[in-house]
Amino acid sequence: MSNKFPVNRALFDDVMVPNYAPSAVIPVRGQGSRVWDQDNNELIDFAGGIAVNCLGHCHPALVSALKEQGDKIWHLSNVMTNEPALRLAKKLVDNTFAEKVYFANSGAESNEAALKLARRWALDVHGEDKTQIIAFKQGFHGRTFFTVTVGGQAAYSDGFGPKPGDVVHAEYNNLESVKALISDKTCAVMMEPLQGEGGIVAPTDEFAKGVRELCDQHNALLVFDEVQTGVGRLGTLYAYEGLGVTPDILTTAKALGGGFPIGAMLTTTELAKHLKIGTHGSTYGGNPLACAVGEAAFDTVNTPEVLNGVVEKAKVYVDGLNAINAKYNVFKEIRGKGLLIGAVLKDEYQGRAKDFLVAAMAEGVMTLVAGANIVRFAPSLVIPNEDIVEGLARFEKAVAKIAQ
Ligand SMILES: *Cc1c(COP(=O)(O)O)cnc(C)c1O
Repeated sequence: MSNKFPVNRALFDDVMVPNYAPSAVIPVRGQGSRVWDQDNNELIDFAGGIAVNCLGHCHPALVSALKEQGDKIWHLSNVMTNEPALRLAKKLVDNTFAEKVYFANSGAESNEAALKLARRWALDVHGEDKTQIIAFKQGFHGRTFFTVTVGGQAAYSDGFGPKPGDVVHAEYNNLESVKALISDKTCAVMMEPLQGEGGIVAPTDEFAKGVRELCDQHNALLVFDEVQTGVGRLGTLYAYEGLGVTPDILTTAKALGGGFPIGAMLTTTELAKHLKIGTHGSTYGGNPLACAVGEAAFDTVNTPEVLNGVVEKAKVYVDGLNAINAKYNVFKEIRGKGLLIGAVLKDEYQGRAKDFLVAAMAEGVMTLVAGANIVRFAPSLVIPNEDIVEGLARFEKAVAKIAQ
């Protein structure tokens, strides 16, 4: 393709809505856990497209599923069903607590479906007073107006006029704060089984089990937003398995398509029946291309080798980050689970997570932040150990520059 204009970062400012601040680097090609930019500079990818690229870039199983489906049929809409959607739904049902699947295209849309289902169930079964939704401060559930309201961060939800009502926020890992809010008017409690965007905060067992018990006592639904934690990220197919707490509704997206946009809401037959014909929908939801890639990603991730590998690779990261910290003393804590890892900056470095990200990029390694004080790592679940070691060596150089 020939263009009569330069395609560079400056063009972003010319033609894109300014709601993002992308890096100056524009990757054009990726293979496994490495990507190359327009000038053929190579980067190691510890970001994984924000916990999306669970099998790295251009994994052969995903590429061949996409190509194969690309030659068959791309899109039908939900006026008809399609084989890839049916196959992926069957696999999700067979491997989780769920009995029914609703497909969407993103995490926010999957959560939107979960919230609408919870509200509709409550109305159908308990009447019109049971509308309260309890979520958590520092939670994140997406950017539609309902989901951003349920997410517990005013910076994202305020400034758009009146919000959807009857949404309140408790404190994560504080069961008393949930007790203080919950009642028979509570329709659902929505939580991440490990807060991602909010700072890589794992729930205590006591908290997770306690929330389940409170929901049961008050006939409220427990919704687990596994958009970030799902599809092997924490070393189990879904995080709820590791917690020993089963939700009523689970949402999954990010890694579900390994980089192809897809999301899903999973639930029981008993609850699913409340979204009857015409109550909710999506043009693209369950798109054959997305589901074909999703199926290949699911089959590849849902194996003991990959899931056990997550636990082993996590140890390489944590040991490596601790070794860096022993030299430079910049982190207060290395936390998280599986390959969702947060390095929490010491007080002297408050607010400087982005500086670490930028310095790391300059050394050839892509990282993420989770808020202003945490450097986040969410790499491919199958990143080769050599790439972890090399990426951490590059990250160490970045740390050294900041620490001096
Ligand atoms: C990323 C994320 C979302 C939003 O997903 P989108 O695909 O950006 O809509 C929702 N919940 C959690 C926990 C997430 O990490």
